[in-house]
Amino acid sequence: MNQDPNEPSPNPDDLVAEAEIAEPLPRAERGFRVHAAPFPAPRLTPGLHVVATPIGHLADVSLRALETLAAADLIACEDTRVTRVLLDRYAIRTPLMSYNDHNAGERRPRLLGMLEEGRAVALVSDAGTPLVSDPGYKLVAETIAAGHTVVPVPGPSALLAALVASGLPSDAFLFAGFLPTRTEARRRRFEELARVPATLIFYESPHRVADCLADASAVLGLDRPAAVARELTKTFEECVRAPLGELAATFAARTVKGEIVVVVGPPAEEATSEADVDAMLRAALLRQAPGRAVAEVARLTGADRKALYERAMALKAESQPERGGRR
Ligand code: SAM
Repeated sequence: MNQDPNEPSPNPDDLVAEAEIAEPLPRAERGFRVHAAPFPAPRLTPGLHVVATPIGHLADVSLRALETLAAADLIACEDTRVTRVLLDRYAIRTPLMSYNDHNAGERRPRLLGMLEEGRAVALVSDAGTPLVSDPGYKLVAETIAAGHTVVPVPGPSALLAALVASGLPSDAFLFAGFLPTRTEARRRRFEELARVPATLIFYESPHRVADCLADASAVLGLDRPAAVARELTKTFEECVRAPLGELAATFAARTVKGEIVVVVGPPAEEATSEADVDAMLRAALLRQAPGRAVAEVARLTGADRKALYERAMALKAESQPERGGRR
């Protein structure tokens, strides 16, 4: 599986010649099996069917996903080796074509050509929902632009599984995908997201999770509630729930393997009083220039920058010793 956009895995299917991509199966041969019971494939609407597949547990695939995969003329997938495991489990024989970050530019026109011929093409990724930190966005956009139908077949996605297991508020959430890999850029990203009034969800690689949590706790605060969901739906599934400071300490001391989602609760809601804002501004002004002090307090309180700047100037003036007064 392509774990992370920064580390694409090589795919031998990039080398598959056009001639090697099989013809669609005759209709009578299309079908699937569940626990050895055979099911026929229905007729599909022509167009692009975007099909979610399991993020670990193969039984998480939906019946409609199986029907769609069995009935399609072709399945476009990230890595044929990964998708074949799912197809073999359900005895689906639909031809596969790889569609991934390495070959999308060359494959997209061919897939669009099939749609033009009135074919039904299924798009899957290695795991979960295509387009969610996975290939497919341009294909969907160009399919729509060409006037063809796009049919979503919803199902698993690691971000939703992590959210519902985290115990953090689920009424509003922001999925931020993968974080930058360098500390400075990662901290900047956390600063941008610090006051968003929603639960934040990130995909992260196991060897960066400790650094990610250290930066998150430094920028978002040690006390902010959070969770690390690992290996969801698989044998070693776990969800560690704790404030960011505690999570950072826990994961700094652990060697972590597997696939990871980091979930961070929304900022505390209580409004900061004027006296608190003044105290924060005074403390920040002692350490840095007014512009930076205002930016810091704006980030921490969510208050309006212009108003904060005016208040900072007033506080600075108050703190100057009086000069030049008449005797
Ligand atoms: N399209 C997928 C989805 O809908 O969740 C995500 C693909 S993205 C390339 C892969 C990342 O998703 C992993 O690095 C990890 O952060 C997360 N992920 C995928 N499967 C997971 C699992 N079983 N448990 C925890 N995280 C998972």
